[in-house]
Amino acid sequence: MTNKTTKAIFLDRDGTIIWDKNYLASTNDIEYYPDTLSALKLMIQKGYKLYIITNQSGVGRGYFSLDTVHEIHRAIDLDLLSHGLPVFSGWGICPHAPDQNCDCRKPAPKLILDFMQKDKIEARGSWMVGDKVIDAECGLKAAIQGALVRETSLSQNKDYPFFKTLLEFAQSLPE
Ligand SMILES: [Mg+2]
Ligand SMILES: [Zn+2]
Repeated sequence: MTNKTTKAIFLDRDGTIIWDKNYLASTNDIEYYPDTLSALKLMIQKGYKLYIITNQSGVGRGYFSLDTVHEIHRAIDLDLLSHGLPVFSGWGICPHAPDQNCDCRKPAPKLILDFMQKDKIEARGSWMVGDKVIDAECGLKAAIQGALVRETSLSQNKDYPFFKTLLEFAQSLPE
C-alpha cells in the first residue's frame, strides 16, 4: 500500500465514446466513434485511469432495466479487452429519472467524487469530458477540469475547452 495518487479521465458514455442512440437498450446497438479506441489507448499510455460517468434515466423511466445497462457495459469492456486495452476502472451509473431528485445525476459530482476517494485520484490533471455542458459542469463541481467533445456539443454554450473528437482531446493531454 502506497500513498501514490493517480490522475483520471472521467468520460461520458452516450455521444462521447459511443453514438447516442437515445435510450440504448441493446448490445446490438453499441456503435463506437471511429476515434474512440485510439483515444482511450492514448489516454492509458499517458498514465490516466479511465472511468465512465453516465446518466441512464431510461432505468428510472422504466424503459429498460439496470441489468441491461450492466450487460451493455460488460460488452463494452469486452470490446476493449479484445483490442488489447484494459477495461474501465469503474462505471458510474445514475439510474434515476430527473424527477427522482437523486444526488448522483450529472451535473451532480457524486459519482466522480466517490471514485476519486475510493481510488485516490488526484484532482490536479484529472478531467471530466463529454458531449454536453452538464458533463463539463460535473467536472468543475468535482473540482477537476471539464471539457466538451464532438461536434454535437457545438450547439451548446461553451465556456469550456472544446475538442472536435475524443482523440484530439487525448492528444492535448500532457504525457
Ligand atoms: Mg452524452
Ligand atoms: Zn441518480
